[in-house]
Amino acid sequence: MESSVAIQSVELSSELGNSMPVLVAEDNPIFQSMLKNMLTKWGYAAHMAPNGMEAWEAMQAPGAPRLAVLDWMMPYMDGVEVCRRIRAAAREPYVYVLLLTARTDSQDLIEGMEAGADDYLTKPFNAQELRVRLRAGRRILDLQQQLVEAREALRVQATHDALTGLFNRGRVLEILAAEIARSERELRPLSVLMVDLDHFKRINDAHGHQAGDAVLREASRRMSAATRQYDSPGRYGGEEFLIVLPGCTRRAGCAQAERIREAFAREPFEAGGEPLAVTCSIGVSGRDTCTAGDSNRLIHEADDALYAAKRNGRNRVAEFSSDEPVAPGSPLTKLVSFSLT
Ligand code: GH3
Ligand code: MG
Ligand code: MG
Ligand code: MG
Repeated sequence: MESSVAIQSVELSSELGNSMPVLVAEDNPIFQSMLKNMLTKWGYAAHMAPNGMEAWEAMQAPGAPRLAVLDWMMPYMDGVEVCRRIRAAAREPYVYVLLLTARTDSQDLIEGMEAGADDYLTKPFNAQELRVRLRAGRRILDLQQQLVEAREALRVQATHDALTGLFNRGRVLEILAAEIARSERELRPLSVLMVDLDHFKRINDAHGHQAGDAVLREASRRMSAATRQYDSPGRYGGEEFLIVLPGCTRRAGCAQAERIREAFAREPFEAGGEPLAVTCSIGVSGRDTCTAGDSNRLIHEADDALYAAKRNGRNRVAEFSSDEPVAPGSPLTKLVSFSLT
């Protein structure tokens, strides 16, 4: 009779498909099989651990269950200690813990809850009571999940540009500051690109603002595709982009800029179903190692180089260089412009 119930339960759970995983830590074999059968029947995927140590190990694995039913008295490590460790690890998403115990003293309940248990059930328990308490746990986990998603959506909103999906100005400036500090600490190079679309106003004027928006999105896509994973492209202004390239010397930054320029010029964009030639000009600045306060200087230098690229005919890369000896009274700059179609 027992075994036929168990088989039915397994079938039911596989019918449910996406069953919620629950870790059940219980050392008593009779309770073990009882709990497994009940949980399976209610549509949970029960992962059984025969002692506290195995339960704690299972809870540390990636993708571990978010719902745990822990017996209090177990060999090697008791349920209260497992619970304490789960809380100390402060894992996200949250783990909902239900403690099971034969102990009925209210001092025990206090100890269990203080260890971070969310709920508590004394053995022998009523099966329906366990069922509704697990359901309450699931509701808490669902709410917590919604909160985490809402927080994540807010974080993305606060750090990304809505039109292009790139980092926004505030975020890319934060990244630049962090990378300058890292460059200084690790004595690594850093370069910065300022990318500006050429004659973009004409695109808006000729094809409308929406077509202009589509060009900005496509431009962002091409820039992202042409940069490495650890580079950070951000929308600095309307049709102007700042790209932070950690670990890149100015020379490497120029090569990277040239790849981006080429990614624009190589293939036409599209406006209203028609092919449209879109180009960009790029200013490059960089340091072999940075020092504090370089943030504004690097941006200024990349900006100066960008305007040199514009002056020299657009669709080109220009770098800011101060390598040459500088005559007294002249600005500490040398602008070198290169790259041609
Ligand atoms: P240059 O080659 O000298 O950079 O010329 P330009 O026309 O690209 O530069 P200008 O600064 O004169 O014009 C930039 C234009 O970008 C003006 C502005 O209306 C447009 N723009 C800024 N933000 C957006 C946007 O989000 N969407 C669209 N469609 N246009 C934008
Ligand atoms: Mg026990
Ligand atoms: Mg422009
Ligand atoms: Mg501009």
